[in-house]
Amino acid sequence: MTEDPTPSGLLLRQGNPLGGRVAQAEMRASNMGLLLRHLRSQGGRSRAQLASETGLSKATISSLIAALAERGLVREGEPVRDGAVGRPGLTVTLDGTYVAGVGLQINVDYVALTAVTLTGTVVRESVLPVDVAHLGADIVLDRVATMLRRTLASLRESRTDVVGITVSPPGVIDYAAGALRFAPNLGWRNVPLTEALSRRLGADAPPVHLENDAKLAAVAEYDRMARDGIRDLLYLTGDVGVGAGIIAEGRLVRGWSGFSGEVGHLPLDPGLTPCNCGRRGCWETVVGLAAFLRSAVPEGDSLRDPARPIADRLLTLRARADAGDERTLAALAAIAERLATGLGILVDVLNPRMIVLGGYYGYFREYLLPALEAKLEARLIDEGCRTLLATSELGLTASALGGALLSLEHVFDDPTVVAGR
Ligand SMILES: [Zn+2]
Repeated sequence: MTEDPTPSGLLLRQGNPLGGRVAQAEMRASNMGLLLRHLRSQGGRSRAQLASETGLSKATISSLIAALAERGLVREGEPVRDGAVGRPGLTVTLDGTYVAGVGLQINVDYVALTAVTLTGTVVRESVLPVDVAHLGADIVLDRVATMLRRTLASLRESRTDVVGITVSPPGVIDYAAGALRFAPNLGWRNVPLTEALSRRLGADAPPVHLENDAKLAAVAEYDRMARDGIRDLLYLTGDVGVGAGIIAEGRLVRGWSGFSGEVGHLPLDPGLTPCNCGRRGCWETVVGLAAFLRSAVPEGDSLRDPARPIADRLLTLRARADAGDERTLAALAAIAERLATGLGILVDVLNPRMIVLGGYYGYFREYLLPALEAKLEARLIDEGCRTLLATSELGLTASALGGALLSLEHVFDDPTVVAGR
């Protein structure tokens, strides 16, 4: 069987769970998953094609397709001729219009929710300004649970089956415990997020998972990049905190305890500004959103007001830059200068094919990219360390999208998580 070139298949399969003698049901679920991944990567196929490409018997394929169709995960449509004599086969395609994954992003001053169906359609999207850093975990989780309950109810009304919720905080995850270890910019430490949210949502809610925001944004971005053959990607979040999602050879890098990509705390600020993590002189204190707003926006200006939606404030700053406002332009030039220092190090350490600058950086593409490209070009020592640079078009809620996509991966791992219709 052809390896699925889409990201998530490679990102998330943690070894082969089916070692030795496996139960019949598990084998069947695993084959259903293989078939789904194959349809995702290869597009619509006749049963005969599926049998020859996967090595499974025609009888097995028929039975698997029946089980997938019953769950609304595939459908059979247009007749196709395989060159054989006789009745033409029908094309089997990936469906999943009524199967969705949910991503829930928690950030310093907003919470974002995205729901995506298996067919890739965004069916729910909302952003709620919440002063997360000051309210404390309990109150924030109450609001998050309310937001989720509403979304789950409205998806249920439209007969959509939600297979999972992935919560994305800007911090380090303890995967085994389902907890957030540390999120310096929220001031949260050792919060049992999975348990706390599951309890609020009740017993019939979909399972809750956790992943770091930068890693999820990288997953969302990689979903598009992989189609262009890019398998080594570094995604840099541009928010109050700055973190990296690292994908190397098609795999998400977590590190031994989940701390990979905490690049915002590299010691790159000679001014030794105190950072929320407890250190001084961290990179994010000079390239993060708070640093940018401090230098671009005069005191007393309403753009400093955290109650105003951040997207509006960034668009206003973008308009100021376009109008030639000197203060905004100087702030952007300083950000580019300091970003270049750190990116140079990351390029040398990781050799990514592409670096994607996300979050607020995406609003200032024309002001940041040319300067960064020139600086990286100037220190190029060999063609083999050339890195492509881009800004993300996914905006400030890329992690919510990545979370929704990650939730859907459970369907590819085991399609029987979706109930028959
Ligand atoms: Zn720090």
